[in-house]
Order: sequence, then C-alpha cells, then structure tokens
Amino acid sequence: MVAIPPGERLVAGVDLGGTNVRTCIARADGAILARARTPTPADDGPAAVVERVVAGVREVAQTAGVAVRQLAGVGVGAPGPLDMRSGIVFSPPNLAGWHDVPLAALLRDALGVPVHIGNDANLAAVGERAFGAGRGIDNLVYMTVSTGIGGGVIVAGKLFVGSSGTAAEIGHMTVDLHGPRCKCGNIGCLEAIAAGPAIARSGREAARGAPESRLLALAGGTADRVTTSLVVQAAREGDAVAQAVFERAAEAIGVGCVNLVNLFNPRRIIIGGGVSQAGELLFAPVRRVVAERALPSPRDACTIMGAGLGDDCGLYGAVALVAHGVDTLV
Ligand SMILES: [Zn+2]
Repeated sequence: MVAIPPGERLVAGVDLGGTNVRTCIARADGAILARARTPTPADDGPAAVVERVVAGVREVAQTAGVAVRQLAGVGVGAPGPLDMRSGIVFSPPNLAGWHDVPLAALLRDALGVPVHIGNDANLAAVGERAFGAGRGIDNLVYMTVSTGIGGGVIVAGKLFVGSSGTAAEIGHMTVDLHGPRCKCGNIGCLEAIAAGPAIARSGREAARGAPESRLLALAGGTADRVTTSLVVQAAREGDAVAQAVFERAAEAIGVGCVNLVNLFNPRRIIIGGGVSQAGELLFAPVRRVVAERALPSPRDACTIMGAGLGDDCGLYGAVALVAHGVDTLV
C-alpha cells in the first residue's frame, strides 16, 4: 500500500460506463491506491446504478483505509449528454430509463462529499492531459474509437464544452456525404464507418464475398462470426481482404483527424479506445491521410499518438476533475 502523508486529501474517481462501474481512490498526483470494478445494472434504472456507484466508492475507500467523509470529493465520468455545471445526466442511449437524472446531487446526498460529473470521453481527454500522453500540452484533441467514437477537445488548457455542453462529438462529424446511416439519424458519420461495429459489419460483408480469405477461415468459415478483432488479426497476418476493410476505417479516422487538425490546430491528437490497440495498422494510414490532406502549417504542428493510460483514461480524468479542477470553455 502507498503511504498517505498526513493531511493529504484523497479523491475518488468513478468511470460509469454502460458495461462496468469502475471506482478508485487516488492521490492528487494520480497515484491510484485502490480500485474496483462491478457490472453496471444498465437496465434497472438510475436508482440501481447510483446504489452501485455508492457501494463501489465505499469499497475502494475501505480498501485504501480512508473514510468516505474525509475525501476531497468524487469525480464521475458518465455517458453524455450531460451538464457538468448542474450535474444532470440527460438521456444517455446506453442507460435505460435515464431522463434528466441529477446524478451529482444524488451521489452527494448518499456519500456526504462534493461530487462533480463530466462526459466520459471529455474526461478521458482531461485524464490524458493530466497524467498521460497529453501532459504539458495546452491544445489537444482526444479521440476514442471503440463501440462508438467520442472525444474531448482541450483549447488553451480548458475543456471546450460548447454553448450547450455537447462539443467534441467527433464520431458524428460527416466524413462521407453518401455514407451509411448512423444511429444518430445522419448519414456518413465517422462512427458509422469506423467504429468497432462498423468494422465488424464491413468485415462480414467482405468475408461473404471472399471464400479463400484468411478472415473467413479465422471466423470458422462463417462470415457472421467475423468480429473487429478478427479483422485486425487477419490483417496482421497479411490477409488482403481484412487489410482493405481495416484500411477503409483507418482512412476515415484519418479524414476525421484532418478536419480536427484544420479546425483546432492542436499540438497533439491522442487516439484511444479498443480499436486503437490495432497499433500501426491504424496509426500508419491515419498519419498518411493527415500528411496528404491537412493544411501544411497545422499539420506540421500536430503529433498523432496512442493514449498513454489505456482503459484508465476516463478514471484518471474523473480523478483530475476533483483533484485539479477543470476549467471549461463555452
Ligand atoms: Zn452520427
């Protein structure tokens, strides 16, 4: 166990996802002293989820040997859309029965300490800047590519949340005027082309037309069994069908990065999420597209790299939200 200096105020971080509730106790310098993970009762409504978060915070506090009431506060990364200032979560698509839930107030009442909430992808950007690949960088964009595509934009050291708090919906920028329909209703969104489910769907379509492909063999000869990770594996093994599928998604992410580079002139774009674990299979085409298409001056100022904190960036962002505070830009 890490020694806790007398007088040091510890914070709790919570990453409230559609699948898991992750909690931790951390020092202000980002050292995590205890952590826990439990499934999210996503179909059981807000009260059940709040109860689970409260139990998770109490569990890690006990493990770290600190009373909950002695914590400086609790930071929570939650699915958006939400309002950081009022602490209200509106209607997240992956939490059933949530409509205008005053999450921060409910947790504060149950735990008796200050509670601050933020959009999970926004807080991942905050976490990477505080403790990960964005340390010391005042202008950066974080993009997560997994089941969906989201992100966070930090401008002049402040989290850019926009005029109604929903900025940085990177996954819903249009990158193909005539592309596939997105869950949001628009067509040609980056998420509809390049998120994990889109890669898997393209992989299934490609495998059906390619009986000799390594991709179809890895799926046991059944195209419907093709997953995103099988596309990545087959591409790494040199399968041209899988390489073409993955490259199309990577190029779309590259086009998204071109738009971000031209719009925000960031010093760094950090890409995290499960799909980023494909490594150079993703980053090489992304960098190539940016080199070919972005305006020269912002292109030369920007480095594109993988996340430094992996799955933990949202949790670290929740810690930073309380430990350092986050200035927002509207
Ligand atoms: Zn969309």
